[in-house]
Amino acid sequence: MVDASEYEYDLLVIGAGSGGVRAARMASATGANVAIVEDRYLGGTCVNVGCVPKKLYSYAAHFHDSFDDAAGFGWQLPEPARFDWATLRDNKISEIKRLNGIYQRLLEGAGVTLFNARATVVDAHTAVLKNGQGDLTVTAQKILLATGGWPWVPEFPGSEHALDSNQIFDLATFPKRFLVLGGGYIAVEFSSIFNGLGSETHLIYRGELFLKGFDQQVREFTCAEMERKGVNLHFNTNIERIEATGNAYNVYLTSGEVLEVDVVLAATGRKANINGLGLETLGLTLDEQGKLPVNERFETAIPSVLALGDLTAGPELTPVALAEAMQLVDHHFTDTVPKSLDYSTIPTAVFCHPNIGTVGLSEEAAREKFANIRVYCTDFRAMKHTLSGSQERTLMKLIVDDATDVVVGAHMVGEEAGEVIQGIAIAVRAGLTKHDFDRTVGIHPTGAEEFVTLRTLTRT
Ligand code: NDP
Repeated sequence: MVDASEYEYDLLVIGAGSGGVRAARMASATGANVAIVEDRYLGGTCVNVGCVPKKLYSYAAHFHDSFDDAAGFGWQLPEPARFDWATLRDNKISEIKRLNGIYQRLLEGAGVTLFNARATVVDAHTAVLKNGQGDLTVTAQKILLATGGWPWVPEFPGSEHALDSNQIFDLATFPKRFLVLGGGYIAVEFSSIFNGLGSETHLIYRGELFLKGFDQQVREFTCAEMERKGVNLHFNTNIERIEATGNAYNVYLTSGEVLEVDVVLAATGRKANINGLGLETLGLTLDEQGKLPVNERFETAIPSVLALGDLTAGPELTPVALAEAMQLVDHHFTDTVPKSLDYSTIPTAVFCHPNIGTVGLSEEAAREKFANIRVYCTDFRAMKHTLSGSQERTLMKLIVDDATDVVVGAHMVGEEAGEVIQGIAIAVRAGLTKHDFDRTVGIHPTGAEEFVTLRTLTRT
């Protein structure tokens, strides 16, 4: 335990997102005196303008396929089904408000003092909180920077007409024609969402194929499936300029093509959210990747100033920030010295349609790391689609280190891939072998059983 006698708080957390709130609650549970400061919504990006509203919209978009699939199972629905954007958006807003309230009650219940203000750190133990009604100076034994990231949009003529991912959720009117720039998580997810909800959808990506860093076969398979669902994919091109034309926009591409759309979303990555945080005063600087360097104990170059989550290196994912928060609290507020986090087997899902779920190494990365690998793949039409008539296919893939038989990568593209891979991730994290997978009895009839029945070697 820290000796907090000199300071008002043992821990002052700046930023009430996933990582900040978890650290504040867990530290408080150890008996520490904790305050958290936030000038926006509680719950951060994930709850307000990220994972949660995105997943709700993804559910909404999936109904499109479900309505089409239903006929083969005997359901006759009135044609055409009508989608009402305002209902979805407003129901989403109510749900997020409910979650904000839950976060507030969780913090209060944990005995954490909540300041509704913006914080600037002025020295190793002091922050000034501003909320428009005068400044408040707060001291703490430790200060945790948990301010996350903020969407970044490149500058080009007309880039001011592009919305970022914070602005896309609450559109006043539904875009009949939607365009997204980028080839990462947000671009593929939102192109699937708006396509599913009924927009004519375009994805513009500067590279050969989207989802750089993912398994090549997964990228190619996802590309084919998204095209089949009607998303217009434009690769090897970028936006040259955007011109406003009344209520719409003409988007000029470097390929020479011009697209007229109602909304342009720039999903071009995120940057550390450090504006006004006071890093310069502290002498703390970001590294080449734009991240704040920390050691294994989440200490910056100033040991009393800690940082975690999207502000620091590592995947920008809510569960990573949560895991880091638990580790940080163990390090600083308990006698336990936790094992360091294993960042190599963090599973992830991309909620494009169909979903991608992945854990461990891509085939390409495994080939570089190991002398010999074995690859087992299957690509099939799920049982549901025998009657639905949908041509959607599912891809499942295991990558095995030949020398040890350990499964070093598992990938899926298909319905609920994230749900399936979450289970498989335990096996991969535990270092189980292909033989262990083969000895596991399947659950029939499921798609997931394919992961334990992959007997035929696809390639080495
Ligand atoms: P990403 O970093 O994933 O992707 C950014 C994309 O923008 C890349 O395709 C990049 O191209 C492209 N890009 C960058 N600069 C430019 C430019 N100047 N002109 C044109 N294109 C450009 O960022 P996202 O915004 O999609 O998402 C941010 C992060 O949030 C993700 O990395 C992920 O960690 C997290 N996230 C997680 C989700 C999940 O877990 N399901 C969902 C959404 C977000 P290139 O590939 O060539 O570099």
